[in-house]
Amino acid sequence: MNYDVIIIGAGPGGIFSAYELTQRCPDKRIAVFEAGHARRRCPIDGEKIKTCIGCKSCSIMSGFGGAGAFSDGKYNITNDFGGTLYEYIGKRQALELMRYVDEINMRYGGAGTKLYSTAGTQFKKACIQYDLHLLDASVRHLGTDINYVVLENLYAYLRDKVDFFFDTPVETVKIVDGGYVIQCANAAYTCEKCIISVGRSGSKWMEKVCKELEIPTKSNRVDIGVRVELPAEVFAHLTDELYESKIVYRTKQYGDKVRTFCMNPKGAVVNENTNGIITVNGHSYEDPARQTENTNFALLVAKHFSEPFKDSNGYGESIARLSNMLGGGVIVQRFGDLIRGRRSTPSRIEESFVTPTLNATPGDLSLVLPKRILDGIIEMIYALDKVAPGTANDDTLLYGVEVKFYNMEVEVDEKLQSRYPGLYIIGDGSGITHSLSHASASGVHVARDIAR
Ligand SMILES: Cc1cc2nc3c(=O)[nH]c(=O)nc-3n(C[C@H](O)[C@H](O)[C@H](O)COP(=O)(O)OP(=O)(O)OC[C@H]3O[C@@H](n4cnc5c(N)ncnc54)[C@H](O)[C@@H]3O)c2cc1C
Repeated sequence: MNYDVIIIGAGPGGIFSAYELTQRCPDKRIAVFEAGHARRRCPIDGEKIKTCIGCKSCSIMSGFGGAGAFSDGKYNITNDFGGTLYEYIGKRQALELMRYVDEINMRYGGAGTKLYSTAGTQFKKACIQYDLHLLDASVRHLGTDINYVVLENLYAYLRDKVDFFFDTPVETVKIVDGGYVIQCANAAYTCEKCIISVGRSGSKWMEKVCKELEIPTKSNRVDIGVRVELPAEVFAHLTDELYESKIVYRTKQYGDKVRTFCMNPKGAVVNENTNGIITVNGHSYEDPARQTENTNFALLVAKHFSEPFKDSNGYGESIARLSNMLGGGVIVQRFGDLIRGRRSTPSRIEESFVTPTLNATPGDLSLVLPKRILDGIIEMIYALDKVAPGTANDDTLLYGVEVKFYNMEVEVDEKLQSRYPGLYIIGDGSGITHSLSHASASGVHVARDIAR
């Protein structure tokens, strides 16, 4: 065998697997294969290149650090959202591993960043009075800048102990006597154990591998909605204390749940390219010099199809494609324009009191989002306006569409091991996690199992 352990994907799941293996069994020969670059930079600079140019390997989604590298670095320590890892390994173990990941992040450059908590907050009561439900969590906000420092330090620690193969997408995984063959474009490598951690960008590839190896999968949900951007003052009373507030609301009209997601105080809205489809996301910096005057967060509605149509991601993709067709990428609309049934135009956006942080195409989201989803989002904006007055202002910006694709859920056991001994499937690629903290914790979990 070339290696004892091969890890596919250098996102948080892969990095924390590698880290824990080097700690627990330093004598093991470990390799990491990553489709993206070691050093990455999204070409959008807001001046020469203003919108997504569809790079072959998206630097937002791929490379060392995975989708997490330019993320906001919000590590939510909770079982209430971010994945269902606890269903496999137990709630206590899941929380312990998330705290362990937090300790490592602090040791590798995150020390001094703030850990926020919903424990004892007054906002829970304020929210519930309007049927808004604030979920419990501790949130470590590293910020895009410190998150990057932590990743650089982790890479500096790992690079002499682990063989990294960048710009090397794995094509197939095959089973051989006593292990696995990892086939890349120009060479094949063998290993005794294999950890697959390919994230959302590897969703199509993961599906193919599961089909080839007959690993059972279940369809997952898709979250569809918009990213809201408004002056930071509107949510400051919440974000100053909690940083991120995950609020869930059940609409009166249809009984659908709408929730806030990925809140970025004083942050920026960004494009996200998943398998060629441009959607929207957000992040913010810890360094005050790089912060903006706006706060952004997503409002999402979950849809899960089972019979006869099962392809929840395909549904989300079609909606995103529609916005890409109409807007050439992401569409932005003022809330006031949406309510009045008219499109936003460049001049209406120009005159707006809120300056967009992303260069998106002014348009009409009602031509893109299904009525039921859009009605739910509008109802939630009015509900949020009661705890954060100003949310429903005419100039509040809505970017669309935001889609959270979840990989189909792969059948694994409590060790996160597939039906093949020594073949582990973890992180967002497994459909079990949807966050930095859960994906990282899943990496530590399998590394400990291998070490044992
Ligand atoms: C802009 C943005 C902001 C975000 N902000 C937050 C946040 O603040 N908090 C939070 O909890 N989550 C956030 N997320 C989500 C978070 O980044 C992911 O949940 C997390 O990165 C998942 O980790 P992972 O290791 O499972 O997968 P990923 O981070 O997606 O890493 C998978 C890696 O595998 C590689 N890969 C894929 N296929 C192959 C292949 N065939 N061969 C080799 N390599 C392959 C990819 O290139 C990628 O680098 C954000 C995501 C984005 C895009």
